[in-house]
Amino acid sequence: MTLNQYIRDVQDFPKPGVMFKDITPLLGNPQAVKECMALLINNLRDKKIDKVVGAESRGFFFATLLAYELSAGFVPVRKPNKLPFDKISATYELEYGTDVLEMHIDAIKPGDRILIHDDVLATGGTAKAVCELVEQLGGIIVQCNFLMELSFLNGRKKLNGYDVYAPLVY
Ligand code: 5GP
Repeated sequence: MTLNQYIRDVQDFPKPGVMFKDITPLLGNPQAVKECMALLINNLRDKKIDKVVGAESRGFFFATLLAYELSAGFVPVRKPNKLPFDKISATYELEYGTDVLEMHIDAIKPGDRILIHDDVLATGGTAKAVCELVEQLGGIIVQCNFLMELSFLNGRKKLNGYDVYAPLVY
């Protein structure tokens, strides 16, 4: 099975000129999900991960599965005003303007070993903001992993110094 066949290219989404990688065909195929999990979990079983931090919202799918497989906790990072309890926040740059991500203030304890997961690494702005949130609370980032990396957008550069892994690279 090639996992690529379950990633659908959607032209002009969410705006003209963008080719969006749609992962819903993959999510709908249990064999493809199992194969992705095997790739994503890769070398992580012996890394003593305490928490998997997932970025809203497509990051949640595999982040929760990874947390379950690694017997780790799951931590959601969300867009503003979605989380109910006390929060910390990080601002990151978009193509035009800025956006904010939030995490609960008690989600991570100092010294917790953290896996960060999102579906796609594009420019790296989202993942960098998630790293900042984790480090604000004293978490140790073991790895940032993604289903897919859009390598032409150079997201890895923004995550310089972190261990970055993505099984699918475009
Ligand atoms: P970045 O902050 O790295 O530029 O963008 C990554 C974020 O945008 C991820 O949270 C991801 O869900 C979303 N994203 C950007 N491009 C795509 C894409 O082509 N497909 C999907 N599924 N998500 C994307």
